[in-house]
Amino acid sequence: MILLYKVYAFIFGAMVGSFLNVLILRLPKGEKFFVDRSRCPKCGFQLKWYHNIPIISYILLRGKCARCKSRISLQYPVIELLTAVISLLLFGNEISLHTITSYLFFFTIACCLLVHFVIDIRHQILPDSINIYLGVIFFIHAIFFFPIQHWLLGGIIGFAIPYLITFVFYKLRGVVGLGGGDIKLFGVLGIYLGPLGIIHNMLFACVFGSVLMLPLLIFKIIKRDQAIAFGPFIILVAVIQIFLPNIFKMMLGVVLF
Ligand SMILES: [Zn+2]
Repeated sequence: MILLYKVYAFIFGAMVGSFLNVLILRLPKGEKFFVDRSRCPKCGFQLKWYHNIPIISYILLRGKCARCKSRISLQYPVIELLTAVISLLLFGNEISLHTITSYLFFFTIACCLLVHFVIDIRHQILPDSINIYLGVIFFIHAIFFFPIQHWLLGGIIGFAIPYLITFVFYKLRGVVGLGGGDIKLFGVLGIYLGPLGIIHNMLFACVFGSVLMLPLLIFKIIKRDQAIAFGPFIILVAVIQIFLPNIFKMMLGVVLF
């Protein structure tokens, strides 16, 4: 019986993934979604319903538009498959009110972070709408499950520290270090992670960022003054903290001792 639920969780995940693709495509452009059906970006061909089946359509069409045969981005099936697998993994081994609400909570968080991650890499923006949505969900969760000093202090520290650092940096050097979206994301994550958790996130995001950026700078793959999205590093650390807390404890242990 539980196996059947898992199959549903996978299919549901793939369908949500298909919607996330729409968000990733349209949020940065400020376009509305829901209004029109998907079209081929090259020839404007309006997709039929059977061209819109997650993962399967891409395979049947062999990654090409049904009319003009131009390549469809691999991003679509990858996001659909990834969201399906995340949904499957987050779905518990028993059915109860607790496991279902917990699944919905964590799955929504995962979807928001996935959309944030891809949009930030492609456009260097973390959309306000996603930050607000995440903030509301974390806030409702926090009211029920966390003491006030955890979420209030976490949110304030998460917002204030990066804001102050960016402000001082700007006054001294005249350059903007962190984007507004990064600062808001820290604040929002602070609500869930708490004061200590969000400070850990900042430290690890900086370490991850430096470790990856140094070789890219040394081998001149990116230029010194090139704008680099910092959001993906914040998100990567947050994913470990939220979904794999035991692994994060091990990482902390390695750093502290
Ligand atoms: Zn086409």
